[in-house]
Amino acid sequence: MHGLMMESELLISSVLRHADKNFGDREIVSVTADNPLHRYTYADCCRRTRQLANAIDKLGLDHGDRIATLAWNDYRHLEAYYAIGGAGFVCHTVNPRLFPEQIVFIINHAEDKWLFVDLLILPLVEKIADQIPGVEGFVVLTDDANMPETSLKNAVSYESLIGSESDEYEWPEFDERTACALCYTSGTTGNPKGVLFSHRSQILHAYAAVSPDVMGLRSRDCVLPVVPLFHVNAWGIPYAAMMVGTKLVFPGPKMGDGETLYQLLEQEEVSLSLGVPTVWLALLQYAEASGQKLNRLERTIIGGAAVPEAMIREFRDKHDVDVIQGWGMTEMSPLGTVSTPKSGTENLSPDEMISLKAKAGRGICGVEMRIVDDEGKELPWDGVAYGALQVRGPWVCSDYYKLEGESESHTEDGWFDTGDVATIDELGYMAITDRTKDVIKSGGEWISSIDVENTAMGHAAVAEAAVIGVPHPKWTERPLLIIIKAEGAELTSEEILQWLDGKIAKWWIPDDVVFVDEIPHTATGKIKKIDLRKQFADYKLPG
Ligand code: ADP
Repeated sequence: MHGLMMESELLISSVLRHADKNFGDREIVSVTADNPLHRYTYADCCRRTRQLANAIDKLGLDHGDRIATLAWNDYRHLEAYYAIGGAGFVCHTVNPRLFPEQIVFIINHAEDKWLFVDLLILPLVEKIADQIPGVEGFVVLTDDANMPETSLKNAVSYESLIGSESDEYEWPEFDERTACALCYTSGTTGNPKGVLFSHRSQILHAYAAVSPDVMGLRSRDCVLPVVPLFHVNAWGIPYAAMMVGTKLVFPGPKMGDGETLYQLLEQEEVSLSLGVPTVWLALLQYAEASGQKLNRLERTIIGGAAVPEAMIREFRDKHDVDVIQGWGMTEMSPLGTVSTPKSGTENLSPDEMISLKAKAGRGICGVEMRIVDDEGKELPWDGVAYGALQVRGPWVCSDYYKLEGESESHTEDGWFDTGDVATIDELGYMAITDRTKDVIKSGGEWISSIDVENTAMGHAAVAEAAVIGVPHPKWTERPLLIIIKAEGAELTSEEILQWLDGKIAKWWIPDDVVFVDEIPHTATGKIKKIDLRKQFADYKLPG
């Protein structure tokens, strides 16, 4: 017997309608290429989104066609999200930090029909234009006054595209399983793979994201996503924030700039910010160097890579900011776990609380987790056993775009293999030990590069640390520690190895240390271990 409930489709346009009716005067503040501080309201955003939807409907595309964006975080990009998806097309966010060959591959693979491009990214698109012949036209995210000369065919400024359109629009109703957004993983090995989100998955993910023990988003919050709109929907913020009516602040092209971030956080009274650890390194360094405190920020959600304990401590001790670690991936929309405290953790000492927050976090209802051994046998949640982490749930991908049935990413019983190796403790907190492909195998056992890196990062003279396995005749592999020293700091190999002694298992202590000026990062801010392994492929360990 079916329940007697309305079967309203879960569509992203419903979030926009709710936001318009209930939070019309909430502000959205953006840094853009053509305006250092643009300010308008939810009502303006919704009105312009309807104008854009009218304009898109006139492009002569079929529902389901992909429209790409290559843009930083700002209000026009947000409007594009809602207008493209809401009108029945697929908003394909492309990461401008990828190599041009990857961008070409992605746009062609997705068969994008139109492309929305940021002023600052225009030169890049002009260079690759002849390699993306399927793109019929380009919308430059600016107005006619700032529209540059361009060699792109059918190029039009965003403002002129929407300017004469009606601001009345009837959002179409369709099956909630319809695709609304597409994002490719950065593909550190092989070609990038497309994750195709549905209206339903985005809405369910947003409901989970706003809940108190996940992001705890409130209408009175002000959120600054430093996570890009071009990567996994800025962790779902566009939908989650507008669902509850938080003020939004977008740093535009200034995402990696500690000073701009600091000014925005203070001036706009941001209460929650989200980003990857490398972004916060820049902000914390700026605050330290300029002797300033973060006075307004209450909490920050950090994920995308392991969060060093030292960072959690610095936020707490110097800025009274609560760090919540999150884990997830593009294939998971991305939220999987968050390290918010749960019942049973009330009596933890401050240090124990830091250790808890250094874990990736506990599962969100909607994402089931399990860890399995090589034979696929489920392992216990005891905080010790580690294995391949698998997940399933309504916002986890069931396959990759145009690779259906080919990618071997799912188990026969329907779980997605994350490619991460993890432990889960008795309380349900999961900790990532490594990516499967980054694991260091020494004497038949695994060494967690993440644990060694985080412990090294606890030393004041270390700005960034990476650990990779290098070949060893007796142990197969042994860890090599690669360090960028903090500015002006002195540090020797002996000192850092001594620092690690007693803090990690003896046999995890790296065999050698090298100091470098730069550690390569992926387009999404993760340490590029594959490049480091190539760079140090012939490294001879002492002895
Ligand atoms: P890509 O950058 O390749 O597109 P994602 O952004 O989807 O991929 O990254 C997902 C991966 O990032 C996870 O599988 C995991 O390895 C890593 N990751 C994300 N959050 C954390 C975290 N809190 N701790 C450790 N690793 C993390």
